[in-house]
Amino acid sequence: MDFLQLGRRVRGRYIRDTAHFLSRRPFKIDSPVPYVSFTFDDFPRSALHTGGAILRQFGVAGTYFASFGLMGKQAPPGTIFVPDDLELLLEHGHELGSHTFAHCDAWNTEPSVFEKSVIENDHALGQLAPRSSFKTFSYPINPPRAQTKRRTGQHFICCRGGGQTLNVGTADLNYLRAFFLEKSRDKPDVVRSLIDQNRRARGWLIFATHDVCERPSTWGCTPLFFEDIVRSAVASGARVLPLIQVWEELCAASSA
Ligand SMILES: [Zn+2]
Repeated sequence: MDFLQLGRRVRGRYIRDTAHFLSRRPFKIDSPVPYVSFTFDDFPRSALHTGGAILRQFGVAGTYFASFGLMGKQAPPGTIFVPDDLELLLEHGHELGSHTFAHCDAWNTEPSVFEKSVIENDHALGQLAPRSSFKTFSYPINPPRAQTKRRTGQHFICCRGGGQTLNVGTADLNYLRAFFLEKSRDKPDVVRSLIDQNRRARGWLIFATHDVCERPSTWGCTPLFFEDIVRSAVASGARVLPLIQVWEELCAASSA
């Protein structure tokens, strides 16, 4: 390993540690049943029209994290949602979450600029769907700086990051862990074993991806793979729900 690689690795570790250990908002997961959520970053159209259709086949729904600054644009995961998609998404019982207006890099953007983009996305939603509001969020591109995490957490009930693992025991509502499906799209067994681990731990496993189509981008997966994972999640006995509904059920379980 040369110094450049070493530098990158140390920086990567620093980013991850900052995201995980600072500005936490602890949340106890104590449930008789496991939970699984399916989430889509950037809300490309295929995530709703193909991914969402697969979720509906199994009678479940997901969470879509939208950046209104990307609406209608061509982006790396394909064509991004258009206004008509919002209506369909809500009609089908999915959840709409925020991903900043300008798809700001959570690490490489000044916290004040990042927060402005969070607020700008709220306003954009208010104009198109006045009765809706964002309750959940996912950090674009990188894990957040501590100050960004603290500020963003004040705007949402929960914020999702990455980490390629499940949430168990005490989770962090300012940085819920998620598993990006595309990183294991050639290894469904790895994903299935995580679903099984989640079943045994009665945890909250949050999957994330972007596009769902026959020729996915680097950040997406195929319908066949996605369907296989949804089937396994449902068969595990987990309750499969959007983020906000899992949070509501877990709150009710802990106060029961
Ligand atoms: Zn994104």
